[in-house]
Amino acid sequence: MSTQSELDVVKQRILSDMTCPLKDAATNLVFGKGNSDADILFIGEAPGEKEDLQGIPFVGSAGKELNKLLSAIGLSLDDIYIANILKYRPPNNRDPTPEEIERHTPYLIEQIKIIKPKIIATLGNYSTKFVLAKFSVEGMKSIPGISTLHGKPKEMNINGLSFKVIPLYHPAAMLYKPPLRQVLNEDFLTMSKILKLKIPDKKEAVQNGLNKYI
Ligand code: URA
Repeated sequence: MSTQSELDVVKQRILSDMTCPLKDAATNLVFGKGNSDADILFIGEAPGEKEDLQGIPFVGSAGKELNKLLSAIGLSLDDIYIANILKYRPPNNRDPTPEEIERHTPYLIEQIKIIKPKIIATLGNYSTKFVLAKFSVEGMKSIPGISTLHGKPKEMNINGLSFKVIPLYHPAAMLYKPPLRQVLNEDFLTMSKILKLKIPDKKEAVQNGLNKYI
């Protein structure tokens, strides 16, 4: 069975989980997008309004910023897979509750086991804490915040799954805190070095604000 078919089976299981928190209020399940055989998995927090309407992660303003950051280091959706901690949108984009995280993340863990990424790039506090706490919702409380952890890669081994975690600010954060744009640019550049990527087009990178670093 292909990894995509395996993911489809998990998607069907979430769809038939009638007691999954947030399902009733949501328009669509937001499962994931990208290349299921990718070496890099990005994990965001939760779908917003646009994602809920389309059933696809990162199609709104944060997604546009993420696309720019990716293309600046020569990555596209063909090279990555993107999923979220929560599979349905929380009303008014409020923060996820521990119970919601507890109920939704077993599906995320299944996605990780199928994709077997070499790198997990966590976007923002929730995904960073969940992965660094070795998938323990309780353990998330003792993990420092993203302002301490961003840009510092960490090797992890969780139940036989080995990968490198790269904690990153959530791209939405730089929309309301512009100085974080520079920080995200730098951390994406760190990630490109770990991936041994050559920034393919200097002109494009300059357009995307990485000129200071190349
Ligand atoms: N923010 C997220 O964390 N995920 C999305 O899918 C969209 C915005």
